[in-house]
Amino acid sequence: MFYNSVDNKLDIKKFIEIFFTNIPKNKTLFFPFKFKKIKKFFFDYLKKLNYIDFSFEIIKNFVDNIDKENLYNIICKSYKNFNYKNVLNFENINNENYYLNLNKGPTLTFKDIAMIPLSNLLNFFSNKIKKKIIIFCATSGDTGASANNSFKNFKRIKIFTFHPFNMIANIQKKQMTTIIKKNIYNLSILGNFDMSQYLIKNFFENIKNNKDFFLISVNSINWFRIIMQVVYYCYFSLKIYNNNKINFIIPSGNFGNSLSAFISKKIGFPINKIITCTNDNYYLDNIIKNNTFLNLNIKKTITPSIDISVPSNLLRLINFHSINKKIMNNINKNFYSDKIYNKNIINTIEYFYNKYNKIYDPHTVTAFCSLFKNIKNKNTVVVSTSYPIKFVFSIKKILPNIKINFNVKKLFILKENYKIFSQNFFTLIKFIKSKI
Ligand SMILES: *Cc1c(COP(=O)(O)O)cnc(C)c1O
Repeated sequence: MFYNSVDNKLDIKKFIEIFFTNIPKNKTLFFPFKFKKIKKFFFDYLKKLNYIDFSFEIIKNFVDNIDKENLYNIICKSYKNFNYKNVLNFENINNENYYLNLNKGPTLTFKDIAMIPLSNLLNFFSNKIKKKIIIFCATSGDTGASANNSFKNFKRIKIFTFHPFNMIANIQKKQMTTIIKKNIYNLSILGNFDMSQYLIKNFFENIKNNKDFFLISVNSINWFRIIMQVVYYCYFSLKIYNNNKINFIIPSGNFGNSLSAFISKKIGFPINKIITCTNDNYYLDNIIKNNTFLNLNIKKTITPSIDISVPSNLLRLINFHSINKKIMNNINKNFYSDKIYNKNIINTIEYFYNKYNKIYDPHTVTAFCSLFKNIKNKNTVVVSTSYPIKFVFSIKKILPNIKINFNVKKLFILKENYKIFSQNFFTLIKFIKSKI
């Protein structure tokens, strides 16, 4: 498959080029120039495969420059801590809809499904070319823990993980900052997630690849992460397909996971609508519904991982400076957007507990809320993006009497390691340069 970027149709590139370039010159993002569709007759074969073999069949279409055997080994190695065949699991919600759990990886988030193969791929490259790799990661909660955990044992790789000070859940922070390794630096920025993301974009202009190292962003703007996420939408839509196309409801922040569902549709899988869910920070909702950009302050909510105003991956489909009708029509044909207010999330958490004795993570609850809004929904999948264990403090505020036996106590006796920084670009650059 070949790639280009919005507004720069003639600059066509291969996987390896876009992977190491991170961000194109026009500051949008790369996207396939043309999708290779999976033929319908191939579905019967795909249906019989386990998750690893299935992943390989999908991913090999997006990736060149890596021989097939190495690619297969990278995928295989990545999922062995996932209980092999059970990379994901699901339950029925009444007989017509489903709940898809993607959080079975080592850090209990869907992010592990893509981050671990990405770490193995980067380790493979760095050993092959004998260069260091310097990684930047901005996190709104779960990406940081997943990234630090995935890269912790790779000696040639250093990772700088940025989180917004006081704006992620306590357990998310503990998970991330208690992995103490020489190659991991946690930076806590006095600002919101967008600020961390903005700073990282600017580091790429200030620090360039050189003979000793490559720089890589492992945020969801990393293309390999997006395609590893495409796999589970392909796999699951095919698994439950029964003559009606499937809708996915996805709690959305940076729009990576939703974009992956869209790509899965583009390559031929039986998907109808992709429903993105946002919270009180409903920038994405407004872009999809009204085609305009809001200028609001970020609010702190019970769903911190989607407290985001710039849904970066949307830049693969539209250039924010030149929105046109044709592109928006295409978006509206495939996506539907929903926003769920904090109050509604809180009420629904209470409802689930009182009525069914069940507790879900608040992000996942946004998707449930959206499902309940339209009782005619069928063949619709609520995508769960995290476990409630991570948000135990905010859940306890809603349900003070619940006893939670989650096994997180050990996190509290471990030492945390992070450094607080203001948003001063030069101080940060100086720190990073002194460590690489
Ligand atoms: C990362 C994350 C999201 C948002 O995913 P995007 O790909 O950035 O849209 C949603 N929920 C949780 C719990 C997350 O950690």
